[in-house]
Amino acid sequence: MSKLIWKLLTKKRRSATQGIPPGKEDLAWVTNTVTLIYGQRDAVLVDTFLSEQHSKELVDWVVESGQNLTTIYVTHAHGDHFFGLKLLLDKFPSAKAIATAPVVAAIQDQIKPEYIQSVWEPRFPGQLPSQLVAPEVLEGDTFYLEGEELKVVQLGHTDTSHTTALYVPSIGLAIAGDCVYNNTHLYLAECDAAARNEWLRALAKIESLNPKAVIAGHGVLHPDNSPRHIEETRRYLRDFVASVASTSTARELYETMLSLHPDCVNPGSLWAAAKASKPS
Ligand SMILES: [Zn+2]
Repeated sequence: MSKLIWKLLTKKRRSATQGIPPGKEDLAWVTNTVTLIYGQRDAVLVDTFLSEQHSKELVDWVVESGQNLTTIYVTHAHGDHFFGLKLLLDKFPSAKAIATAPVVAAIQDQIKPEYIQSVWEPRFPGQLPSQLVAPEVLEGDTFYLEGEELKVVQLGHTDTSHTTALYVPSIGLAIAGDCVYNNTHLYLAECDAAARNEWLRALAKIESLNPKAVIAGHGVLHPDNSPRHIEETRRYLRDFVASVASTSTARELYETMLSLHPDCVNPGSLWAAAKASKPS
């Protein structure tokens, strides 16, 4: 029997997309979820948070776990999943931050000062950690925690390009990164029709692992980690594809998707996707 266990830390933040049409203000927030997998002594953290405040709370949470952090794995190159790296590495200097080669390359681009100043700082003024670093390249697709395998699953384009999940076969745990969402509007602004199909194939790939638990990158504050969120994410994507075909303006697409998914949080993500797929 595996001796690995896991726990989650979930933080709520404001949406990266502002200026949405009025009417859904109460849903205008999003969560990020990080996973700590641990054994008798050592731990692996999957993803970090965006803001300096949440990153400090994450450091405290890992310290309180009493575990020796050996590795931080980053699933994909979006700042809300890796901005906290430097604060963790400062606290755990023997830990290693890793990601696949294309993710590391994209992160190196994204932490350039001009990108931070033009994209992230205006959205989260004064809230980002002052020092940002990229992970190192993981060679191969497997690393270990107390002798047990952790496998990188290449997902291609989901909410951005070259995304990954991390699968722990011994406990049937799939940490889906941003391939699976829970009750949250998907971030489809970086997706054309081909990328949406790639996302559908990525969902099938996670499903084929037959995981016992699926960690959604964005979801509710107290997630149930059910594999059913794979199918829910698939349904949302198919609804979006059908709605792109049946509407003519961004506003119409936005309203159509809201009527199909009225309770999802973070309508800003949908608004960004609607504007990207139907530029006026
Ligand atoms: Zn994300």
